[in-house]
Amino acid sequence: MVVFEQKKLELWIQKYPLLSKITKLETVVWLNPHLKKMSEISSLPVNKQDMEDAARLWQRFAPFLSQVFPETKVTEGIIESPLRKIPNMKIELNSKYDAKLNGELYLKCDNELPIAGSIKARGGVYEVLHYAEKLAIEEGLISKEDDYTLFSSDKFKEFFSQFSIGVGSTGNLGLSIGIIGAKLGFHVSVYMSADAKQWKKELLREKGATVHEFKGDFSEAILAGRQQTSENPNGYFVDDENSKHLFLGYSVAAIRLQNQLEEGNIIVSEEQPLFVYLPCGVGGSPGGIAFGLKQIFGDNVHCFFVEPTHSPSVLIGLLTGEKEKVSVQDFGIDNKTEGDGLAVGRPSSFASSISGHLVSGIYTLEDNDLFKLLALLADSEGVYIEPSATSGLIGPGKIVASKYAQQNNLNMNQATHIVWATGGALVPKEDMLSFYEKGKRMI
Ligand SMILES: *Cc1c(COP(=O)(O)O)cnc(C)c1O
Repeated sequence: MVVFEQKKLELWIQKYPLLSKITKLETVVWLNPHLKKMSEISSLPVNKQDMEDAARLWQRFAPFLSQVFPETKVTEGIIESPLRKIPNMKIELNSKYDAKLNGELYLKCDNELPIAGSIKARGGVYEVLHYAEKLAIEEGLISKEDDYTLFSSDKFKEFFSQFSIGVGSTGNLGLSIGIIGAKLGFHVSVYMSADAKQWKKELLREKGATVHEFKGDFSEAILAGRQQTSENPNGYFVDDENSKHLFLGYSVAAIRLQNQLEEGNIIVSEEQPLFVYLPCGVGGSPGGIAFGLKQIFGDNVHCFFVEPTHSPSVLIGLLTGEKEKVSVQDFGIDNKTEGDGLAVGRPSSFASSISGHLVSGIYTLEDNDLFKLLALLADSEGVYIEPSATSGLIGPGKIVASKYAQQNNLNMNQATHIVWATGGALVPKEDMLSFYEKGKRMI
């Protein structure tokens, strides 16, 4: 690092001492000093109404989805995942990670989400459906009261084939946009970073998307994608670094979770607080879900994000208040992690403008833990999720050990902990096996 940058870094560390550990790649737990009570939050760029509108869009498209994706027939075209109690994993976390967990532990299994096998089936699919609906309405092809199975007709496909959609992705977002976009008849171009997995590229090509491989990291792939897509007058770019629609698509998970909690007689109240742990890349999916949960459960839900020690982009953005204006590279951090979807150097500007007052805190973890947790979960519960998706599992222990409960007068003995498992279903068997074996060697 040049002397000038070193000097700047020292000034940052003086102002925010936690940055000393963060830049040394040590794990940290940051409790957000800017967390606000819901009654103190006056205006956000989106509101509860927007989230409910997004839920209605999903509903309109349900007949179409159930028709073209047979795996969604059982849920009548609603893309949702189960909430599972994982008591054996709780025992493992208490013994192997000294988690001291008393409350109930659940896994939100977005690894099983249909279509994309990851949390991106919420945001990515939503944004493409939103765009398709807008085009079809403007063209006079459909109105919101019509039967949306029309979207699978040749007439619609032909219409959409005049338009192209671009997206920059480390993998999972590209998969969701590519699969739904190609199904509707769009030309989809996915701009992937060098570290994206080969099987993801192959699967995308098989589904009919064009894959542009790009040297450099995620931000550069986004940049190239944005430029090339905007050169086409009929081009639409799904902008992971600044997307309101992705955010709203994710937020609907909160409404669905509320129903699942009610069905399971799981109470959320001041005495029985809800803790949610969300793996974080650009901050869109955890931000959208935290936003939605806060609209529903207010101050009784406590949302924590988790990032790899090598990619703490949202942490640095929120801690310094500089948000998307800073990247981890500015702080001498390399942004190299095996957590697909988490290797993000710069936060989403849209999401961080909202998360700043809603997220209770952010903790970081080392890549090795991703694999250890993967193997522990597989052995204890028979559930296989991708490495990045395991990062929430050590959240409960981290927060119990922090001062959070004390500062907020919370009784952790009656807490419900939900760990968001963000992906896994599409990972090829042999890749999953090698992740598992890697983790197994470390525990
Ligand atoms: C994308 C992704 C995340 C993080 O979502 P962001 O919106 O980028 O914060 C977490 N886990 C997995 C598996 C993902 O694909």
